[in-house]
Amino acid sequence: MPAPKIAQQWLREILAVFYQRRTLTRGEVVEATGLNAASVSHALRFLLTSGTVIKTGEIDSGAGRPREVLRVNGEAAYFAAIDLEGTRLRFGLTNLLGDICCRWEHDFRYASRLEMSRLLHGVEMVLGGLDPSLHSRVLAAGISYPGLMEPDGHLTAVNLGWNRFPFRDEVERILPFPVFLQADGHTCVEAESSHGQAQGRENWMFVIVENGVGVGISVDGRPIDACGLKGGELGHCTVDPAAPDICKCGKRGCLEAIASSPNIVRQYFENTGAGAAPPADFPVTEVFERARSGDKTARVVVERAARALGLALSHAVNLFAPELIILGGDAISAQDLILPLLREALDRHALAGLARNVEITVSKLGLDIRLKGAASLAFRRSLADPMLLQKICSPLAVPYRVLEYAQR
Ligand SMILES: [Zn+2]
Repeated sequence: MPAPKIAQQWLREILAVFYQRRTLTRGEVVEATGLNAASVSHALRFLLTSGTVIKTGEIDSGAGRPREVLRVNGEAAYFAAIDLEGTRLRFGLTNLLGDICCRWEHDFRYASRLEMSRLLHGVEMVLGGLDPSLHSRVLAAGISYPGLMEPDGHLTAVNLGWNRFPFRDEVERILPFPVFLQADGHTCVEAESSHGQAQGRENWMFVIVENGVGVGISVDGRPIDACGLKGGELGHCTVDPAAPDICKCGKRGCLEAIASSPNIVRQYFENTGAGAAPPADFPVTEVFERARSGDKTARVVVERAARALGLALSHAVNLFAPELIILGGDAISAQDLILPLLREALDRHALAGLARNVEITVSKLGLDIRLKGAASLAFRRSLADPMLLQKICSPLAVPYRVLEYAQR
């Protein structure tokens, strides 16, 4: 347990900065946390003694003593991360650096019912990759889920074949450590904040175009669900009330009914006059590729989707003036087609002063984004929990790195 004089809040802030930036000097820790130098020195001494933080090198500053380069010890804590995306279930085990040490994934038939035994099996598979002596340092799990969760923990997710499934109760029952749950759009916000392009950004949004259109929103540097707010249903904003496109929510002209990947493919097949439904495995990237190579129908469909997305985003821009919009999912592979039209739509529909200030980019975190986000969620929530923070800072069973430091 931290010595009484070391405020837990100091430890939280220092560990959070290391999680984002990986290596820092003492001076950089002081600057990044805004804590005073004496508090940082006190807390770092404690963290170095427990082995939670280790010295990895020195910087020769030319005059005076060289500056130590510090980072957290990855082995101090591990987090299970689970991404319940509808077509593939992903499991990971990340260390305190946020690196994925073990992973396991398997296909999942969209909308078939997910059994909890498969979830437990996935967690056991990634834990199996960890040295048994370190199992006690697996502190918590973070789960990124699709669909809509009610306050009592019941989840309705078409992708997983669940209708008011008591997910929170069930997952807490089968997993042997605390579990933190988050809607997938917000998980992407966690990942970009911790490891991506939104580090240090306050008000921004993540938009993912896949089977649906999801959104995560960060306000004052935190995902809005951290403030207890729900919502963020950008995919079900009406962008064309007279459109023939009916959404899976039952309403007409939702953004998702026009701009989600399956609906882009659907429109392409409808407009080519082929009549028949598209083959189940026809990828949206093929529509993008055809649009690039001059297929007029493909171009019309992609442009319609991009303009619909831009219109919906213009409302979001007017509502809360984000400084940054990060696009993820299938939209990444069509950035050359989509980004110019998004910019044009924002300029046309959002207030000029607000639209001008929005930077639009695409995510660089790849397929692991929700795994990284789920792990980051588990880390952040563990820091906030006094008992779990205590475990992160408890002395490591393998003290050689501490001894190495102590000998200097
Ligand atoms: Zn809808």
